[in-house]
Amino acid sequence: MTVLSVRDVTMRYPGGVAALAGVTLDIEPGEMLAIVGPSGSGKSTLLNIMGTLDRPTTGTVELGGLDVAGLSDRRLSALRGRWLGFVFQQFHLTAGLSAAENVATGLLYAGVPRRKRRPLALEALDRVGLSHRVSHLPHQLSGGERQRVAIARALVHHPALLLADEPTGALDTRNGQVVLDLLYRLHQEGTTIAVITHDRDIAASLPRRIEMRDGLVVA
Ligand code: ADP
Repeated sequence: MTVLSVRDVTMRYPGGVAALAGVTLDIEPGEMLAIVGPSGSGKSTLLNIMGTLDRPTTGTVELGGLDVAGLSDRRLSALRGRWLGFVFQQFHLTAGLSAAENVATGLLYAGVPRRKRRPLALEALDRVGLSHRVSHLPHQLSGGERQRVAIARALVHHPALLLADEPTGALDTRNGQVVLDLLYRLHQEGTTIAVITHDRDIAASLPRRIEMRDGLVVA
């Protein structure tokens, strides 16, 4: 079953030009793709729509075959919590919480009982190679380690799709490569991943590329 299907989607912000001018995109289970394009081409707008954080002006979005247009905000956020994992450029970890506690917050909306959260968080940290950092606070971790904690948090509930928005944008080259290597390994283990990037080298290293320009997919 197609994980995410975006069909003929347009997005027009109030008073603005069309940020998306008709985008169609299917993501199949196990795929790893890059959405690449210059600043202003519509990548973030598309990501917000793919992540069901915004609703398109026209067109349809289906998550796991379910058209999200008819869902209430409450049902939509439950669906999002189960189906999607998000990784952001700036990590967005909670300062006073350990790595394990940060990862466990990824289970808050997945209906997992409290006593099961920590073991699952430890398992997710192990998947990203951070078993030796579970009790560290974010400020005690390198940038690359913080992003790996954020990736563990995004994966802890086993989402159908991981959406990563410029995941290496705040990292130096070496840490960026560590994070990319991790995403690639997770893909080889079966995780479905979409990476939004303006970096052509990163895009070129991924199996599938969607190139955007002026709100359209051009290749
Ligand atoms: P990218 O992520 O590729 O840089 P964006 O999706 O952020 O592109 O932007 C696409 C277009 O939509 C740009 O012209 C941008 O100025 C416009 N835009 C983005 N967000 C908003 C907003 N909240 N309100 C009005 N215009 C917006």
